[in-house]
Amino acid sequence: MSIRRLPDVLINQIAAGEVVERPASVVKELVENALDAGAQRIDIELEEGGVRLIRIRDDGGGIDAAELPLAVQRHATSKIASIDDLEAVATLGFRGEALPSVASVSRFRLSSRRDGSGHGAMLQVEGGRVGEVAPHPHPQGTTVEVRDLFYNVPARRKFLRAERTELSHIEEWLRSLALARPDVELRVSHNGKPSRRWKSEGQLQNGMGLGDVRLHEALGEDFARNALRVDHAGAGMRLHGWIAQPSYNRASADQQYLYVNGRSVRDRNVSHAVRQAFADVLFHGRHPAYVLFLELDPRGVDVNVHPAKHEVRFRESRLVHDFVYRTLHAALAETRAGSAAMPMP
Ligand code: ADP
Ligand code: MG
Repeated sequence: MSIRRLPDVLINQIAAGEVVERPASVVKELVENALDAGAQRIDIELEEGGVRLIRIRDDGGGIDAAELPLAVQRHATSKIASIDDLEAVATLGFRGEALPSVASVSRFRLSSRRDGSGHGAMLQVEGGRVGEVAPHPHPQGTTVEVRDLFYNVPARRKFLRAERTELSHIEEWLRSLALARPDVELRVSHNGKPSRRWKSEGQLQNGMGLGDVRLHEALGEDFARNALRVDHAGAGMRLHGWIAQPSYNRASADQQYLYVNGRSVRDRNVSHAVRQAFADVLFHGRHPAYVLFLELDPRGVDVNVHPAKHEVRFRESRLVHDFVYRTLHAALAETRAGSAAMPMP
């Protein structure tokens, strides 16, 4: 067979294989876009575990009608423009891949109105075939509608699980986003019924600290009661968040949330450092619970490791390991000595 260039739709579908594993990955990408657009409130409507419908509406900056076709084009992004931008990327997105990927494996609709613009517009994409921009009333912000995920990719569709399972994957993602962004309100509905509302801090005003309420809502009373607040800076980094006192521990690693510069990631290096810090105080086979935010110069961390952006690479991973280990080890030693660190009320 001779060499040929693949059609764009197929290129996008191949990319979708990496970015879109299941409905939860669509929700993740779309909510991240909403956050990058500065949304204060995000509405998430789901049907049948997100397989039938995912509709995400935000009140962020919106997209100009003229730019809607670009938004669904591969490698088109408003977030970076150069290698310097990429090396210091501060947004959750930067690859310009999510929308074209999702649009190539679903019945897709993007409607938006840019701040300051008088009217909204809409663009439909069906299985990767892009339609025409049409006027469409929309409040400021953006709505993305994804129907019948993988309707045109039977091999992928086969791997989707029961509604409950897909929904719980979505809920887990939203929990991790909710922990990171207590300033943003999230409303979720499933099959037409409101299922969860994450109020934003500003709406609560009951005197609890920033994030404390979210922690409580996301991980429950027990975790919150046993949570030790951590906040330590050094070596050009800052580590803050909560660890549960060792007496509160888990049979699996199901309550371990790590964020690097606000991005939820999995990192062996950092989890190893945490495990080591807990090594003396946890029984073998038990797992610590934590919500930790590591902040460092974006130039010290490469986020461009995998299309799904679940992983990062640290320039100085040894330094990061030591910093995390020392910070948590000290925090745990302090509680054992019964001094400064106090559990949350
Ligand atoms: P990326 O997020 O990597 O830039 P995407 O494919 O996810 O790539 O989105 C493409 C572009 O579409 C973004 O760079 C952004 O300009 C625009 N966009 C997507 N979603 C939204 C949204 N909810 N609000 C405003 N702009 C958006
Ligand atoms: Mg994106």
